[in-house]
Order: sequence, then C-alpha cells, then structure tokens
Amino acid sequence: MKLKKYLLLLLLPLFFFAGCKSDIEKISKNLNTYTMNIVYNDDHTLDVEQTLEYTNRTEDSLNNLKLHLYPRSFRKDSKVSVVSTLNHNKCYYNGQSFGDLEISKLLVNDVETKITINGNDDDILDVQFQDNLTPNEKVKIAITYKVTLPNINHRFGYGEDTINLGNFYPIACMYEDGDFVIDSYHYNGDPFYSEVANYNVTLTSNSNLKIASTGEITNQTSQENTTTYNIHAKAVRDFAIVLSDKFNIVSANVNKTKVNYYYYKNQYPQENLQTSIDCLTTFNELFGEYPYSTLNVVESNFVHGGMEYPNLVLISDAVDIQSDFTNVIVHEIAHQWWYGIVGNNEVQYGWLDEGLTEYSTLLFYDNNPSYNVDTKELIKNTNNSFSTFVDVYTKVFGKADTTMNRKLNEYNNESEYVYIAYVKGMLLFDSLREVLGNDKFIACLQTYFNDNKFGIATPSTLINSFEKSSKSDLNALFESWINGKVQIIATN
Ligand SMILES: [Zn+2]
Repeated sequence: MKLKKYLLLLLLPLFFFAGCKSDIEKISKNLNTYTMNIVYNDDHTLDVEQTLEYTNRTEDSLNNLKLHLYPRSFRKDSKVSVVSTLNHNKCYYNGQSFGDLEISKLLVNDVETKITINGNDDDILDVQFQDNLTPNEKVKIAITYKVTLPNINHRFGYGEDTINLGNFYPIACMYEDGDFVIDSYHYNGDPFYSEVANYNVTLTSNSNLKIASTGEITNQTSQENTTTYNIHAKAVRDFAIVLSDKFNIVSANVNKTKVNYYYYKNQYPQENLQTSIDCLTTFNELFGEYPYSTLNVVESNFVHGGMEYPNLVLISDAVDIQSDFTNVIVHEIAHQWWYGIVGNNEVQYGWLDEGLTEYSTLLFYDNNPSYNVDTKELIKNTNNSFSTFVDVYTKVFGKADTTMNRKLNEYNNESEYVYIAYVKGMLLFDSLREVLGNDKFIACLQTYFNDNKFGIATPSTLINSFEKSSKSDLNALFESWINGKVQIIATN
C-alpha cells in the first residue's frame, strides 16, 4: 500500500511517506485452486458460490482448515477498526456504513458440514474434517455466501465512482509451526498473508459496469442487462476486482504483458500508461521478469495513495498532484515483485515488502532520469525525516521504538508504522546499496527474487540471499537495522 503523505503533530518540516510464462505453467500444477461463481447485485451485495480445492502441504495431519473472512471486520459489531481515527471521515464520507460476509452453506467433499466461525473477531471460518487430512491429501470445500459491501473509500467497499472488491472472499490461512496464522484485519498497513493459488472466476454484473481484475478475462457474454466474465489466473497470491460505469481504458503491450490503465478523472492517461510501461520495463530488467500476461493500473476511490493486488493496483483518485500520482503508480507496480511474486507475512514483517518497494521507486527514478527526480535529495530528505521522527517521539513519548519486526497491531499509531516500515525500511536498503555498491546490490535483489519467487520470504531469507550473492557477512548490518540499534543522523 502507498500511504499518502499527511501532517502529524507539531509544525516541523517533517517529510512523510505517508520468470517467464513456463514458470507459471510449471508452478500452477501444484497449487490450491479457488473456483468462484460471483453475482454482483446492484444493491452492492455479492452472491458467491466458491469451491476451494486444497492440498495439505504441511507435514502434519490436519483435523481442520481455517480461512480468513476479512469482510466480517467491516460489520457492525466487529472489534477491529478498519480505518484509523484520522481517516474515518474521509473513508465514511456518507456516514458510517457496514459490510459483512454471511455463509449459508458449507460442504466438505460434498458432505454438508456445520458452519463454525471463530477467531479474534469472529473472522475465521473453521472447517472441521470428519477424518484427518493427511500430508499431500486433497480436500474440496464448497462455500455459499453473501457479501455486503460498505459505502467506504477503501480496498473493500463502494465509493462514488468505483466498487472495490479486495479481500472479499474466504481465503485459506497460512499454516506455520503447527498452527494456522489467523491475524485479524487491522487499519495499519496491509494486514494480509497468503500463498499463491489458481483462480477460475465467473463474474456476472450489470452490463453498464466495466471491470478490472486479477488474471485474464478469457470470455465475456451478455444477456439482457447483464454481462458474464470468465476470468482465469494462475499462481497469484490473491484475487481482486474493481467495477465502474465510468472507466475509460488505454492499453499497451510490454513483451508478453498487456498493460491497461483504467481512469475516469485523472487528466493524464497517456502519461500514466507510459509510467506503467516504464515500470514494467525497468523492474523486469532490474529484478527479474514479470511472469503474468496482464497488469491493470486502476484509478479508484481509495483513502490511501494506492493498493497492490496481483496483476492489479489501485491508484487513489484523491492523489491530485500529478508527480505524486506517478510516484504511487511506481510504488504499487514495484509491489508486483515485492508482495506479489515474492510474498511475505505483511502483518509481521511489513517493512520487508514496503521498505523494498519504497526503495524500488528510488531505483526506478535512478534508471529513468527523464522523470527528473533527484534521488540523492530524496535519500537526504528521507534520512532527515526519520531522524526528526526519532527526535519528536523521544521528546513526546520519552523514547522512540525503532525495532522493525513488530506486528501491525504493535505500533502505537499509523505514522509510527509508516516511519518504520516505509522510511526506515527504505534507509536499510539504501545502506546495503552503499555498502555493496550498485551492481552487487542489484545482483543480491535478483538472487532474493529468484530464491523466493512464488514463495514466502522472511527477514532471514532476505539476509541469506544477500549474503549468498554478495559473499559478504551482512548479519550484523541487518540486525542493527532490524533491532533498532542503528543511529540515523540528520544530514545537511
Ligand atoms: Zn506499499
């Protein structure tokens, strides 16, 4: 996600940040598959029939499978805040509104099963198995449910111009150390953690709506006032859709990828399409090839600057300075590599994808001088803003906690998270580039990409890839950043 720059506390000059196709074919043969038949109703609800074909790839026999029900955090009696107090009125511009996900039927291998919902916020579907699912055994879970969208400028909800379907369906929890990871939604950051899977989706909606989605639309048919789209995606970490009756689209091809820019308000469609093309070209060369056939860059109603999903990024229509709009496009497209292809637990290690994504925008500008961004100045400002953050927090709270491996709900507020995950994360990668030199640093990123693509990275795997590629002992450097001991001094 790209958080918009915003002002906070005191009037200080703070600077806020707010493989190839055959790879896909190969990897997709051994993944879970989500099949969804979705009807989008004009009253902002979805009727969905979903089947998940899940293979137990753990070493344990499982007597259950847990799935996140993120839309339930938007319901009236949820314990979780889906937006910060600061953004509440901007999000709920028409007043408070609620969403939900209600399950009416659950089948396990075609046998009707009791619907059990638990978790910290009653946001987990706990599917109990009659017989244990042994390692490598498959199970078919069929869920019939209704989703209600809130009226909110968010990744899940509808606004004045767009209907955003992000994190709208039951998605399997990750399984680690003998248990499912069931972290709830949180207003900070992107509170998600999932593995790549295949998706076969049918969406039926009013014909006046155009759609942008993860994956590729392989067929569309119209009947009276409705249109049905067949959408397929392989080896993607999540699946999102945006609908609007206002979309215009401009497109171009970069190698095997079709880039589509969807817009309704922004005045620079060709420039934004070109930025998207430049991102894909630059990051393909720097990190490794984007393996998918589609990349949709979508202007939308969204409270923050932007949001990443596989093959689809949201760019907020509220970003009204064009250079900021460009910056958000670059940031969100960089996420296709860091979050999308190389995944991570975004609840526990937000800096891992956000810090590297922020630094990737700097690499983009370094490699595309026509954008006229002085990256030395950018780093100087970032450094100074972090040092000011530490000073202010020390003065106001007595101390500044600058450790990086904190969960989203362990930060005191949104700005502290932004400073640690984005600003300090970016400085960590800059210090690595300073130490290693540009060529070695880029080689390390390529190793990290290749070691972890379609998988899950952790701080340890990042350190391993960097040490392996550079043949240097970098553990102490990483540790001093991650555990908060490094001193960052303001520069002139
Ligand atoms: Zn981001």
